[in-house]
Amino acid sequence: MKKTVLKKYADLLVRRGVSLKKGQCLTVFASVDQAPLVKEIVAAGYKQGAKAVSVEWSFDEIEKLHYKHQSLKTLSEVPNWKIEKLKNRVETLPARIYITSEDPDGMKGVNQAKIAKARMATYPILKPFIDQIENKEQWCIAGAASPAWAKKVFPGLKKKEAVEKLWDAIMQTSRMCDDPVAAWDEHNKNLKEKCDYLNNLHLKELHYTSSNGTDFRVGLLDNALFLGGAEKTLGSNIVFNPNIPSEECFTSPKKGEAEGIVYSTKPLSYQGELIENFSIRFEKGKAVEVKAEKGEELLKQMISMDETAGYLGEVALIPYDSPINKTNILFFNTLYDENASCHLALGMGFTNCIKDYEKYTKEELNSMGINDSMIHVDFMIGSNDLDIVGETIDGKKIQIFKDGNWAF
Ligand code: ZN
Repeated sequence: MKKTVLKKYADLLVRRGVSLKKGQCLTVFASVDQAPLVKEIVAAGYKQGAKAVSVEWSFDEIEKLHYKHQSLKTLSEVPNWKIEKLKNRVETLPARIYITSEDPDGMKGVNQAKIAKARMATYPILKPFIDQIENKEQWCIAGAASPAWAKKVFPGLKKKEAVEKLWDAIMQTSRMCDDPVAAWDEHNKNLKEKCDYLNNLHLKELHYTSSNGTDFRVGLLDNALFLGGAEKTLGSNIVFNPNIPSEECFTSPKKGEAEGIVYSTKPLSYQGELIENFSIRFEKGKAVEVKAEKGEELLKQMISMDETAGYLGEVALIPYDSPINKTNILFFNTLYDENASCHLALGMGFTNCIKDYEKYTKEELNSMGINDSMIHVDFMIGSNDLDIVGETIDGKKIQIFKDGNWAF
């Protein structure tokens, strides 16, 4: 990608993505193949007045070696230097930019049960730090084209062409234009209008039906809001965009209220492996049966990562005609595919969906019906004939989606 375009993209991520404040620290997480973009992000960070910008590099091939050669015991420990780093993050609250560019099949061949066990062991050690940071600092996930990812998306093209084409799709879906920051302000406004409409309905349930077999009801919380686009940090009230792109209006459903079956409409890339053509059946809010043409074992393992991994954490509404779906590209990356289609997420819910959430403790928010889990995995269920009917607290039925798109 051209340097001028990377520069503009970096500027968007720093100014609108995390809305970096003067004197704040910035941390960028990226794969080593994204050095040209990361350099521009670091430069944009300093231009915005960053106190210090740090970069945390990763490389799938090296991760694989760690998982292969380290014992489960070693993988299950969190060394002291990592704890110190987390303590520092809690104290200084740096803005964080995550660049996703990974190969959707990048962890193929790695012992997935070993990865899962290691994650289960380290999570309780990391969780107190995650909880202390939650909702307090700006973060943003955005994409960058890598050769392995591009070849997965465009298998028929030569590597160089595939990378260029994926970059073009990333730029287009990220609303890169003459003035991307202004385009995002406008987009945030539109998403907020949609959310306001939904919030004024006072919905208690959504009922999904589609010709692919989906027939599913999910309960909503009386005091939970639909959110979309920009969010605000707790305390410092900084408005930022956690996902670029983002097309969704989402909320956290009521734990324990989900019945029926949903069929996936896009493959799910989970821990570097693909799960395809799957269905999940829910009873009393919990996934009780899963089937998949590919990756069924991995899906079963995913919903049993902890006691609450089988409960829902997110319900998101995205029209079938979203700009991302219109690209007709299957990205094999959740950031893009989740914004192309209505989706649900298994696992952790968003406490900031509760109205005036800052007045409650995390425990109180969870006991209201927001699920807590070590996983949060989005999966796509939007189709071109998806119907969603909402029921309000006073028993009125309102069409929310008709033929895959907003009905209002
Ligand atoms: Zn979502």
